[in-house]
Amino acid sequence: MTRSPILLIHGGAWDIPADLLDAHEQGVFDALQEGWRILESGGSALDAVETAVTTLEDDPAFDAGRGSFLTRDGRVQLDALIMDGATLRAGGVACVERIRNPIQAARLVLEKSPHVYFVGLGAEDFAQANGIRLIDNSELVVDRERQRLAEAQARERAGRPDRTFSGPHSESHDADSHDTVGAVALDAQGRLAAATSTGGTLNKEPGRVGDSSLIGCGCYADNASAAVSVTGWGEPIMKLVLGKWATDRVMTGRSPEQVAPDAMAYLLRRAGGHGGIILLAPDGRYGLAHNTPRMAWGIHTADGPRVGTLLRDESEEEP
Ligand code: ASP
Repeated sequence: MTRSPILLIHGGAWDIPADLLDAHEQGVFDALQEGWRILESGGSALDAVETAVTTLEDDPAFDAGRGSFLTRDGRVQLDALIMDGATLRAGGVACVERIRNPIQAARLVLEKSPHVYFVGLGAEDFAQANGIRLIDNSELVVDRERQRLAEAQARERAGRPDRTFSGPHSESHDADSHDTVGAVALDAQGRLAAATSTGGTLNKEPGRVGDSSLIGCGCYADNASAAVSVTGWGEPIMKLVLGKWATDRVMTGRSPEQVAPDAMAYLLRRAGGHGGIILLAPDGRYGLAHNTPRMAWGIHTADGPRVGTLLRDESEEEP
């Protein structure tokens, strides 16, 4: 039986300022177009999420690939995971510094390795051995982020609240950005896939790994339940294994529309966390929610693309 494909994308959940809205919506739209081309020609959900996330990594508006947040010592360190819901094959990389598109390295892990996860130099060596050209870390660094890091470190020196989310929850998170990207897809053969890619949190310690690339935390896909990508403050999301929490609830028969806001409420209630989630079931039902002021998102179905910046008050509504 062939299904009508669906591609659902997020470009981070935070208080996206008005002057950055266009860049986020355009970036999500571009990624939808690239991923949809694959799905509409009968390609796999796995190829579609890899392509959509590659497009977002290449866009410096997002905290993934070039333009990501910087570590405490001014470098870009990237994490990514991709998962095939039909076979449960998965591939992840973390703390890579010399790979332009970590989601492509993650896909190579999925395809070519008996292992699921590589980190640091080992991940870079694996990627290079499988055809990825290594670059200099400076190619991933943009001036906007040098500036942002300098401001964060000045705030830190002044003893003002931590707004980086590498540390404890601050009183207000409205201005803190979470521009991690993710995609979930359902293809014409009924296969689900998910992909998430990030530069992590601003001013993070080198070597820190967040939720995004950890299986079941920021990304998961299983045709027996659902495909999910999560964004937000990584440490609470990891502690709750939130992606798997959400897909397990879909497996028990609950609808993604209900589970997505429940997951955000649980994140806040149990761990004081915040973020956003996209969730897609094998029957094509989907949900998205966030407990931050805004989330950049987009969906492409046979009816066409739809892109938006969901506001908190709308998060319980059907998009
Ligand atoms: N979840 C990511 C991390 O903690 C950050 C984000 O979603 O923007 O690494």
